[in-house]
Amino acid sequence: MSLDYLCEICSALTQPLFQAHGYWIRGCARCGHRTTQITVAPDHIEKVYADDYFLGGEAGYSDYFAEREILRSRGRWYGSLLQKFVEPGTVLDVGTAAGFILEGFQDRGWNGWGIEPNANLAEFAANKLGLRVQATSLESFRPAHKYDLVSMIQVVAHFVDVREALRVTTEVTRTGALLLIETWNWRSWTARFFGKSWHEYSPPSVLRWFAPVELESLAGQFGFKKIGQGRPAKSIGGSHAKSLLAYKVKSWPLGSTLSALTRLIPDRLEIPYPADDLFWMVFQKS
Ligand SMILES: [Zn+2]
Repeated sequence: MSLDYLCEICSALTQPLFQAHGYWIRGCARCGHRTTQITVAPDHIEKVYADDYFLGGEAGYSDYFAEREILRSRGRWYGSLLQKFVEPGTVLDVGTAAGFILEGFQDRGWNGWGIEPNANLAEFAANKLGLRVQATSLESFRPAHKYDLVSMIQVVAHFVDVREALRVTTEVTRTGALLLIETWNWRSWTARFFGKSWHEYSPPSVLRWFAPVELESLAGQFGFKKIGQGRPAKSIGGSHAKSLLAYKVKSWPLGSTLSALTRLIPDRLEIPYPADDLFWMVFQKS
């Protein structure tokens, strides 16, 4: 994130729009792309993605491990979706966490590798699940070979330097490889309806928000051409929904009452996520 607050996509000036969790959210005057105004500390990744993010609730997960089956079936869903474009090959899942989505890809015939900045999760994925997961960020990853697919499921909004991340993606993929990105759409009806209370305005873990056209423009600058777009069939676990809701409503009027009500949601319940604020795009490297 540049200190002079230029847009990461089109280099135009950005301006402060509103505050969320004590941070200014800025918008590009030309393309609209939104970013968090932040000076990223050297230990940003370690702090934001410490074990608390996956187990502590609030903006992260209340218990990431409880979502294994849901995430695995999401991996399967994407694994099948991508077969509309290519035969399964090698996949690098970026920000793979404990590797649950990666397991789903493998269920659909993909040959999987993963990287994850949280060392404990990477170790869990490697030692307990037997997956090829390495503890590293994409920016410092030096793979032994090039991949047929890079997947970034709800990851792109978190990169400290998104342009560097995409540059590395071009290096770790072969010509014709696919890039799958799933992220949040700040121009969706849901995001507009909630305005600054939209749950995804949760810096400092989330650093930027795209509309589909903005993501397409950014990926295009790195030689990735859009070949598909849609909305994921997503569901979330009860415990995750509960902690997200409790985190959100605590600042609202009647927040403590609402927060008490959210505790009634059963942990193991699988809740469909029908909102329109999440999208996926598939790109092909030219
Ligand atoms: Zn812009």
